[in-house]
Amino acid sequence: MIKFLNQILKIHNLSYSTVTVSNPLRGISTSGTIVKSAMFNLKEASKDQVQEFLNSFDTVLTDCDGVLWFFNNAISGSADTMNYFRKIGKKIYYVTNNSTKPRSEFATTAAKLGFVACPEEILTAAFLVAHYFKGIQFNKKVYLLGSHGIGEELEAVGVRHIGVGPDHVKPDVKSTKLSELDPEVGAVVVGFDAHLSYPKLLKAATYLASEQCLFVATNTEDRFHRPNSIVIPGTGTLVRAVETCSARKALVVGKPYSYVRKYLESIGLNPARTLMIGDRCATDIELGVRCGFQTMLVLSGVTSAEELAKLKNAKTPPLPDVVLPKLGDLLSLVC
Ligand SMILES: [Mg+2]
Repeated sequence: MIKFLNQILKIHNLSYSTVTVSNPLRGISTSGTIVKSAMFNLKEASKDQVQEFLNSFDTVLTDCDGVLWFFNNAISGSADTMNYFRKIGKKIYYVTNNSTKPRSEFATTAAKLGFVACPEEILTAAFLVAHYFKGIQFNKKVYLLGSHGIGEELEAVGVRHIGVGPDHVKPDVKSTKLSELDPEVGAVVVGFDAHLSYPKLLKAATYLASEQCLFVATNTEDRFHRPNSIVIPGTGTLVRAVETCSARKALVVGKPYSYVRKYLESIGLNPARTLMIGDRCATDIELGVRCGFQTMLVLSGVTSAEELAKLKNAKTPPLPDVVLPKLGDLLSLVC
């Protein structure tokens, strides 16, 4: 473990003196196998241990930004590693909380960056919302605070929706009458909506005043991760606004909540033989822990080596099972 910490600190030019190592043997069991939540550095593993790791899962779920690409630039070696997973027979799914685009658009974006991906392999929070409504055979209308990505996914499963786009503020917004609302609405869905407005909050809260009205959200991140830039409020900001004015709690289907496990089970995949790869402990690794997946953290995105060392010292879950500086490093361990 000391060697492991030295390695990740070296990558990020950090000082070892900031880290306390409580158990230098943590990460490898007495039998030499990789153990859960141990932050085992795969670069320190033997060939047999790497092979054991690869044999331990059939399905790979991967986050995208920070693992495969960063600001629309592919991260070196990530595409080759994903191709390797495919070559050795792993099922692959790209998991993203972005709800602004339909899966087909994501597949096109991934292909432009060099990743093999078909729409069926893209699990967006928008797709999971649609899967949820399909599963409960929802036959009413959705009032949608979101963008066309969710709208198209809902339409693909035959769910009608209203609300996408601007809803301008009238001079006397509080004079809105109940008769202006659609009596067919039976659910409110909140995703990323650049057109959020007071009238939309008013309508969402009014629909949700009925206990029969379902309340579903894509994800709850406070903000988008854009260092040294303007602060871009995330979907969580919108979800909390609707939760506040409706006095209701949303069912959240995106990371780190565990609805994706239900989806995998619905198509016959085994969560216990699934690996979740991510760059952020609070969403990606948390998702893996909640779902009973194996987890791999890569240090090419949000969670830095320094933050990981702090989490470890504080023994603050969720901690990943294995760690690599970047996903592309896996190839050099197997080839
Ligand atoms: Mg990420």
